[in-house]
Amino acid sequence: MTDDTDWSTLEHAFGRADDIPPMLEKLATDPDADTWSELWGSIYHQGSTYSASVAALPHLARIAELRPDAALEAIALAGRISAAEWPDVEDEHPRALESLRAAATAQLAVEGLDDDFAVALQALLGLGRAPEWGEDAFDGVIAGGCCVACPSCETDLDVRFPSSTGNGWEGVDTVPEPATEFDGVAAWLRGEALRAGRAGVAATLAELFGTIACDECGERFALAAALTGLEGDEEED
Ligand SMILES: [Zn+2]
Repeated sequence: MTDDTDWSTLEHAFGRADDIPPMLEKLATDPDADTWSELWGSIYHQGSTYSASVAALPHLARIAELRPDAALEAIALAGRISAAEWPDVEDEHPRALESLRAAATAQLAVEGLDDDFAVALQALLGLGRAPEWGEDAFDGVIAGGCCVACPSCETDLDVRFPSSTGNGWEGVDTVPEPATEFDGVAAWLRGEALRAGRAGVAATLAELFGTIACDECGERFALAAALTGLEGDEEED
């Protein structure tokens, strides 16, 4: 893989990024879980991004293009980096993002686990469709639950998505949003899930965009707004 990037001038979680090119080369030729884990830990360390993270995007695009067996992992990592670095990343790497979006869209049609389908959806969100959903806010769809602070009393609540394949979560059940009420990103997500025949994912999405009642103060609120920090602001100001 040709690479004009001067990695020695870039940084990741553990210092200079000289060690990134061998990882990218390995993933482009003979991908394995250990190398993926090392790359994730270096350039998306506990949700933090670095100069090397953004520089890796064209390489992740190439891996997704070259290697069907590594495409899902490549778009998942790229989607999170893109979401974290939005909107600057759009100016820096428009072609890589376009290529990654094409790879993520192709993943939606791959037969397999609902969780993998949800990862591809999350990647598309992070790659520009709705970057505020590209990181933690969407994780509950895969995990089966999430944590959120009540916008009224600020109590941290555990939330459970009853329809999710994920399990082990206990907490407040969401009340699903009726499909007729869907608009914007919620409608788009649901459309993709139904088109792909993923009824289970569609049901979890209805819960993600539904409401919950705080078990501390009783306030009922929209989970999506509380997770992304969007909407809901008007009431406070
Ligand atoms: Zn509350």
